[in-house]
Amino acid sequence: MPRSEHSISREDISANALKVLYRLHNSGYQAYLVGGCVRDLLLGEHPKDFDVVTDATPEQIKGLFRNCRLIGRRFRLAHIVFGREIIEVATFRGHHEPQATEDKAGKKTTSHLNQHGQLVRDNVFGSIEEDAERRDFSFNAMYYNIADYSITDFANGQDSLSKREIRIIGDPETRYREDPVRMLRAVRFAAKLGMKIEENTAKRIPELAPLLANIPAARLFEEISKLLLSGSGLKTFHLLDEYKLFGQLFPQLQPFLDNPEGREFKMLEKVLSNTDNRINSGLRITPAFFYAACLWFCVEERQQQHIAEGGLPPFDAFNLAITDVLAIQMQRIMIPKRFTTPIRDIWHLQQRLNRRLGRRAYITLEHPRFRAAYDFLLIRAEIEGGELIELAQWWTEFQSASPSKQKKLQSDVRNSEGFQDRRRPKRRPKKPS
Ligand code: ATP
Ligand code: MG
Repeated sequence: MPRSEHSISREDISANALKVLYRLHNSGYQAYLVGGCVRDLLLGEHPKDFDVVTDATPEQIKGLFRNCRLIGRRFRLAHIVFGREIIEVATFRGHHEPQATEDKAGKKTTSHLNQHGQLVRDNVFGSIEEDAERRDFSFNAMYYNIADYSITDFANGQDSLSKREIRIIGDPETRYREDPVRMLRAVRFAAKLGMKIEENTAKRIPELAPLLANIPAARLFEEISKLLLSGSGLKTFHLLDEYKLFGQLFPQLQPFLDNPEGREFKMLEKVLSNTDNRINSGLRITPAFFYAACLWFCVEERQQQHIAEGGLPPFDAFNLAITDVLAIQMQRIMIPKRFTTPIRDIWHLQQRLNRRLGRRAYITLEHPRFRAAYDFLLIRAEIEGGELIELAQWWTEFQSASPSKQKKLQSDVRNSEGFQDRRRPKRRPKKPS
């Protein structure tokens, strides 16, 4: 497509991306924009970032830019850093041959598949045609050439865009086996772009979904955030569920997915719609809140098990349950420590919110995670109802009440019929040593 036949203007392209493209071009290399940015520009949207591909090797790229860092183990990539904006520059990738091959610089590299047909390495350089074949969906294999401002559409992506459908390049099963994350990406684009997954691309997903178990848990954390915590989480969840992908990612929730009326399912829908609303109103969100909410009933259930089967006291059973539930989840999705600590806090605070008398209430109020824990209590009250409604209302009033009103609220609790302060038994005084 020559410039006259498409709508992408240089004005829509980031100035830094243009600098990178021109520097490569003027140094005698090929330079293209590719992937999400070309797709989004053709859809008339603002791309999140601009990805560049070239025939220059990572070392050659590094030679051209002082602000260049080489990164990546699986893929060697160059990052050109302009303050907060990073332009990612990749060298065209070629096909994976089982034998050793030589790259342009004469270096020996190999790439091959494991027993599931999964690509374990693909750092072989190639031509632009090969690079296009390796991409996931037709609309992600369109290349904008800085030399003449034309677009080369290798897999008929324009057609998919106009039909608003997601079509995988090549044989779906082979491509999903090579990289099972592509199944998640199909769903992500369907929800984010409001498109449908073309029949052939969709058909095999449910039966191949278990291949996700072979993806390193560390890679999935970022993918899950992009799927569920980027503004179309609820829609994405329903699609993941429909394609049998969700249960693979959250095995402890699998038993509840057949019951959309159950509290576990409702909790998922609720926390995701809240998250979507927050994102779309420009408010901050944290993955910790999402994980705390979606695994909450698993913790409660596990606690009951430890009490019934192990005869543990509730507090110990609760602690053990937290550790169990997180450990099982982390086998699939590696939640970084900076989020597991707040998840634990939000859970522990649910217990502390039950204790409303004396100084305890003020200490809970001062906890750095009080706000998140209180927001979560509100959601629980909506889902579970019962006593939680009164408890949530009490905290709503208490946190913004005057000191005298706070005292009154506490004495109301003390005087209420059938009230028991669920405090732990007093410790015996220490013996003098
Ligand atoms: P987004 O707008 O969400 O960033 P994107 O299409 O740009 O969408 P990226 O993850 O940034 O997604 O990937 C950039 C490009 O790299 C994709 O457009 C696609 O061509 C290619 N790509 C990414 N992940 C894969 C994959 N798992 N398999 C094949 N190609 C991929
Ligand atoms: Mg992108």
